[in-house]
Amino acid sequence: MEFLQTLYQEIINFLGVTQAWEILREGNYETLKTYKGFTAFIHPIIPILIILEFILGLIYKKPQTKVYKVNFLIYVFNRIIGRFIAIAMVTLIIGSLQKYAPFQTSFTWYWFIYGYVVWEFGHFLYHYWGHKVRLFWCLHSTHHAPENMNLSVTHAHFFLEAPYADAIRTTVCILAGVQPEMLLIIMLIDGTYGAFIHIGENLLRDGRLGFLNNIILTPSHHRVHHARNPLYMDTNFCNLLNIWDKAFGTFQNEEKEVKIEYGITREMDSGNFIDVYFGEIIALCKDIYKAPGIKNKILYIVMPPGWSHSGEHKTAKIVREAYLNNK
Ligand SMILES: [Zn+2]
Ligand SMILES: [Zn+2]
Repeated sequence: MEFLQTLYQEIINFLGVTQAWEILREGNYETLKTYKGFTAFIHPIIPILIILEFILGLIYKKPQTKVYKVNFLIYVFNRIIGRFIAIAMVTLIIGSLQKYAPFQTSFTWYWFIYGYVVWEFGHFLYHYWGHKVRLFWCLHSTHHAPENMNLSVTHAHFFLEAPYADAIRTTVCILAGVQPEMLLIIMLIDGTYGAFIHIGENLLRDGRLGFLNNIILTPSHHRVHHARNPLYMDTNFCNLLNIWDKAFGTFQNEEKEVKIEYGITREMDSGNFIDVYFGEIIALCKDIYKAPGIKNKILYIVMPPGWSHSGEHKTAKIVREAYLNNK
């Protein structure tokens, strides 16, 4: 019975409906005007969409079983281990770095825009390094393993990735004077939108969102980011505002004639939890072990994935440039 009770609690937790249900039950609609009441109704959106998408997959007979199975295991694993580390990291950084900001912003709409642009820059940095530094790729590659796209991919993360990402994003924002309360609101919007851009073709066939594709980062752009096609590799690192991709030359639109192939280029079993979760760490350890000399060993850790001590590099940059030159 206790097991069923725990399972029930976990499902309610996953759906994020506890607070919303309380507000509806008590008819306490005034709370909707508060941050707490507002978030109560934002949290359940993505979990409910995940379930809808899963059901549609069954109806269309495109169940994407492999992706759901592995992402479910990752979710459970992260629930047990990673839960509080990221929250602790954010609190620690706010507490220790706020005093070093040269100025403090206030709680107004224009500082909100400023905060969002700064946050997006922090996100770009974390994400770019996640692809360009082999050690950080070990943390991020779990997210790129799925070979189909659907909302469960939102949960496909190595448990140390969130603290790593939040350490960089929070540091950038706090040092740039973004107010902590504002930061939490930005995090909520970013988290919800960042989940939404993983919406699969079963729920939303065309991810371009019409004219929005020219203004913001759409699911189509993020599908491109998850693709292993040479043209698409290591592009679109932003989350909602893709200004930094445009500024740093990493922006790429989805091309009609280049059909997206999801996943990473390494030979792997995307249905195997161990391979998805630890595969890159194992591969890095093997490369370090085989590399001659201490310098090469260190270079494997800090150089981009695909770098080789033999000089036969297969980094995303080289693969993409070769593709573009041969077009
Ligand atoms: Zn990525
Ligand atoms: Zn993603």
